[in-house]
Amino acid sequence: MTRSSCVIVGASAAGVSAAVRMRRMDYPGTITLVDVDPRLPYERPPLSKALLDEGTAGLVPIQPAETYRDLDIDLRLGARVVEVDPARLTVRLGDGDVLKSGRLVLATGVRPRKLTVKGADATNVLSLRDAADAGRIGAHLGRGGPLVIVGGGFIGLELAAVAVDRGIEVTVVEAQPQPLTHVLGPDVAALVTGLHREHGVRLLSGVTVAGFLGPAGRVEEVRLSDGRRLPAAAVVVGVGVEPRHELARSARIDTDDHGIPVNEFGQTSRAWIYATGEVASQFHPDLPRRGRIEHWDAALRHGAAVGSTLAGEPVRYTDPPYAWSDQYGATLQLIGRARPTDELVLREGAAPGRFLAFWLRHGRIGAVAGMDAAREIGVVKRLMAAGVLVGREQLTRSDTNLRALLKARSTMPGSRLAN
Ligand SMILES: Cc1cc2nc3c(=O)[nH]c(=O)nc-3n(C[C@H](O)[C@H](O)[C@H](O)COP(=O)(O)OP(=O)(O)OC[C@H]3O[C@@H](n4cnc5c(N)ncnc54)[C@H](O)[C@@H]3O)c2cc1C
Repeated sequence: MTRSSCVIVGASAAGVSAAVRMRRMDYPGTITLVDVDPRLPYERPPLSKALLDEGTAGLVPIQPAETYRDLDIDLRLGARVVEVDPARLTVRLGDGDVLKSGRLVLATGVRPRKLTVKGADATNVLSLRDAADAGRIGAHLGRGGPLVIVGGGFIGLELAAVAVDRGIEVTVVEAQPQPLTHVLGPDVAALVTGLHREHGVRLLSGVTVAGFLGPAGRVEEVRLSDGRRLPAAAVVVGVGVEPRHELARSARIDTDDHGIPVNEFGQTSRAWIYATGEVASQFHPDLPRRGRIEHWDAALRHGAAVGSTLAGEPVRYTDPPYAWSDQYGATLQLIGRARPTDELVLREGAAPGRFLAFWLRHGRIGAVAGMDAAREIGVVKRLMAAGVLVGREQLTRSDTNLRALLKARSTMPGSRLAN
């Protein structure tokens, strides 16, 4: 048996961030960071923004290898945690090793949801979560299209942009009336999907996949719910994710539909076990109810907050969620979450690929989305943090100097972001 005072399962954004923060805050015990993926922990966002080759060269490490050594973090890669024993406070690895753990952090993330239709297990029906998936997609697309992407979420649309730029014929199949409507609302979503149409992506909305057709475990056609058939050399399914919370079950801690419920400090229903990152089902001021936040930045910050708590300084993660997505060389950025009762204000001059949209809430900006508008988003983030009162007219006009609004701000107590 190996003794470790803290075991972290999952060495991605949240797990690495927790381990590094603990060490930087002089956590005195041993830290063991375990991941089933054998590669030096890498950033996931780049995986959908370029096509990787099968060897997955070009991965971006979250931290250089030396950081783990210098911070005395025992990194165990290619090792799966198969069981948590809540009576003995131990975790068991797939190779039989047992780690004694005074504190356990589950940072196990999520896995892509699978389609249950006929043919969904064919070899060219793919999904994208890790480097191995990205390598498989790169290898298939290296042989050409057509590519059918099922699900018009951020990952699906990023992949569509990359593939169409490579000259591959791409069709995106989306069950909703329009991709991204649930995140951005119909007007702003139309500005993003318009960009895809301009680049030649075929978007089929309001339809689902009824089945996959082809010989010997290979899909050659995708059959849609309205009877249409699409030829396909490869299919990528991006229809959402499910929490990887099997270990929570073995530890006999509470789970819910979203993941592992945690309190404001990341603690689960057992005091010695924490959960962080995308697997954590958390209360957050920007969420209407308990749930997951599926963004890289949130995983990093939530992980750091849990790391700080474990090092003896309890910290809550309350920053407005921040997400970005790169499509055709333009970056879409999102801060906060729009609510149904917010008033949408689009800045003059909005066009596919370049816009700024605000969601006004009681005279203040509750959420913002911008594409190709990084400078403005930086200023809006500060307006939001300072709780500046703004008018619809001011936000609509493209000649309004947002910086000037910041200078002339009328702040209210309760700002949540540092300037
Ligand atoms: C292709 C892609 C592109 C993305 N692009 C963006 C983007 O542009 N912007 C953005 O904001 N967000 C993006 N995201 C989302 C972001 O990457 C996630 O929110 C983030 O990775 C969540 O981090 P995490 O540490 O909570 O979980 P994960 O990254 O899911 O990591 C969980 C880790 O736990 C390990 N693990 C699970 N179970 C076990 C076990 N039993 N034993 C050992 N190890 C285990 C897994 O191997 C994995 O490495 C993207 C995600 C993907 C997949």
